[in-house]
Amino acid sequence: MSGCFPAPAVISGAASSATSQIVWGPLFQFSVWSSTPTPTSTSFSLIYNHNNQPSRRRWLPLSATERSKLKGESSFALQLQCDCESEIREDNEWVVVNFYHFVFIKDAEAQVAKHHTFLKGLDIRGRIYVNEQGINAQYSGPSRDALAYVEWIRADDKFANMLVQICAAPTGHAFPKLKLRYKPSLVQLEGGISHLPLLDPSMRATPLAPSQWRKRLDAVNSNADASNANFILLDVRNGYEWDIGHFSGARRPDVDCFRSTSFGLCQPEVIAADPLANVDKQTDILMYCTGGIRCDVYSTILRQQGFQNLYTLKGGVSHYLANEGPFQWVGNLFVFDSRLSLPPATYKPEAMTKPSKVEVSENNTFARCYICGLQVCQLRHRNCANLDCNLLYLCCTSCVDDLRGCCCSKCTTAPRLRPVLQGAHRYEKWHTYRDLKSQSQLTT
Ligand SMILES: [Zn+2]
Ligand SMILES: [Zn+2]
Repeated sequence: MSGCFPAPAVISGAASSATSQIVWGPLFQFSVWSSTPTPTSTSFSLIYNHNNQPSRRRWLPLSATERSKLKGESSFALQLQCDCESEIREDNEWVVVNFYHFVFIKDAEAQVAKHHTFLKGLDIRGRIYVNEQGINAQYSGPSRDALAYVEWIRADDKFANMLVQICAAPTGHAFPKLKLRYKPSLVQLEGGISHLPLLDPSMRATPLAPSQWRKRLDAVNSNADASNANFILLDVRNGYEWDIGHFSGARRPDVDCFRSTSFGLCQPEVIAADPLANVDKQTDILMYCTGGIRCDVYSTILRQQGFQNLYTLKGGVSHYLANEGPFQWVGNLFVFDSRLSLPPATYKPEAMTKPSKVEVSENNTFARCYICGLQVCQLRHRNCANLDCNLLYLCCTSCVDDLRGCCCSKCTTAPRLRPVLQGAHRYEKWHTYRDLKSQSQLTT
């Protein structure tokens, strides 16, 4: 298992020697540097033994500050924090990386070109958007390439302290291709976001660390601290994301697409479904989304509407699950890549081995088939087999059979019908099925 290091940990050794003996915390014993870190390395590898298992090799990233310490030294000490971003992974282990950062980028188009140059030759796929307001990135790749990119970005002081979330992706790439470009809006929202005061931290919500967030949610059940328990829990995602997992007590957002989110804007046509309608502007609002960016963006809008006490879950649900485990969380987490749905254990495997800690996450009875309303056994959406519909929906096994993988009976008679999707797979490009169809027509 790729574990975190005891924090803060210090390793020291002779930079020029290949056989330094390094003892690091109670779990890890490093025996050999397999590549010697130099002032220009962005990463280096270590051979290590873990709990007397056979030796393994893992890559460690080196920050610019750490690199500068290496200059002219024959030995050095390296300090790493115990968090997911500095977690050591094998260089060929597949990972999905998520980060975003709001900061003024001068000449963003030129920056995009620099990123393209750096990524040449690296096996990275995903969505990386840059503009004058910052960067928003979700991508997959082998950890050596994925981390090298992180370190390259972090070498720029503007990005040195940004939160980077790394998650194992055992089945390889989670994105079909690399889309790296200048984009006027880092996230899609009606009317764009370039006019929003994203770069002013005082206009955004106050970020709560996962442990602080958990304390607020726990207060509701404990009655110990009534003032802490007084808040509105706001899920700033789409309804279909809530359908497979959410914080207990969060209302299902009546939204199909974040673009059209309008909580707190007093729009008469949605007021009944708006959890912030008629809410006192002094009320504590606790907002969460998958990775944090949607909350950061939306909190500036709520701030402009006069809401004063806005809090976000720092790093979103993924950061929370990695740090706290599934406390107060029910179900899975919807993600916008080919994995679609991740159980909490993906983020913190050790939290799931202790029976006392899983009680909440086992309560999955909220998840319902969109067609018949019965409980679904799999917390995972599927795409409608009709290519021209392609709706993401939740479906029980008997409705999958009855409607041949379609979302409704009308779709079952559509011209561009794909076969029933099996297991946890996603549909391939249409030509795969079109060619299959014409082949079978030739042979019959
Ligand atoms: Zn059903
Ligand atoms: Zn359909």
